Amino acid sequence: MSKYKRILLKLSGEALASSENTVDPATLDKVVGIIKSVQDQGVEVGIVVGGGNIFRGAALAEAGMNRVTGDHMGMLATVMNALAISDSCRKNNVDVLVMSGFPIGGGVCEPVDHNKAKQALGEGKVVIFSAGTGAPCFTTDTGATLRAIEIGAQAVFKATKVDGVYTADPMKDPSATRYDTLSFDEAISKNLQIMDTSAFAMCREHDIEICVFSMLEDTNTLSNILKGEALGTIVRN
Ligand code: UDP
Repeated sequence: MSKYKRILLKLSGEALASSENTVDPATLDKVVGIIKSVQDQGVEVGIVVGGGNIFRGAALAEAGMNRVTGDHMGMLATVMNALAISDSCRKNNVDVLVMSGFPIGGGVCEPVDHNKAKQALGEGKVVIFSAGTGAPCFTTDTGATLRAIEIGAQAVFKATKVDGVYTADPMKDPSATRYDTLSFDEAISKNLQIMDTSAFAMCREHDIEICVFSMLEDTNTLSNILKGEALGTIVRN
């Protein structure tokens, strides 16, 4: 039994890519397999997906584009990634609903509606939230926190390449150690670059835990954390 009934899984765009493909179908199937195993544990899953594998507004602005236009492109990139995950969900018989932070017509996806999202989650569907917060100058980490609050999730699970938060960059400093737990105040004051300060502050105010973990190295990790194993780093009040 998991201590969480409903979680929000934050996937970066890069988590869906391979060295050859912007979105890699084999990786998508792997991600969906993990989502399925979490659902089999009786945990409802909302997803917020990033777009960094395609566009990031800040990078486009550095290259000379208008920042707001760049952010709109970044948010549209997250919609593409959401559609890619939903395709793999359908292929693997996982019921899915895609929502967007701004309205998109043509039957592509629905606008975010927290009541509809909660109903769908209760019916066993995976709900994928795209377009971040729907506004420029935010990131999908803040979007993940916002959607977690809206659907009443108890935790945001942030999948990264590293298996938690370390005292220093473990790639550069071999003596770095992983924190099992951290408070939001510590995470903010240490200026840890794992999530935006706004995302930490929102989770602190709404008492939502953040778990930073590595998802794809061992596909059982998320499931094992939900069973209570001390993998990854938990940030909480
Ligand atoms: N973005 C935005 N508002 C949001 C969320 C995202 O404008 O609420 C844009 C922003 O340009 C960002 C891009 O979408 O760089 C992709 O999101 P993010 O960088 O968070 O993706 P990730 O790094 O998780 O793949």
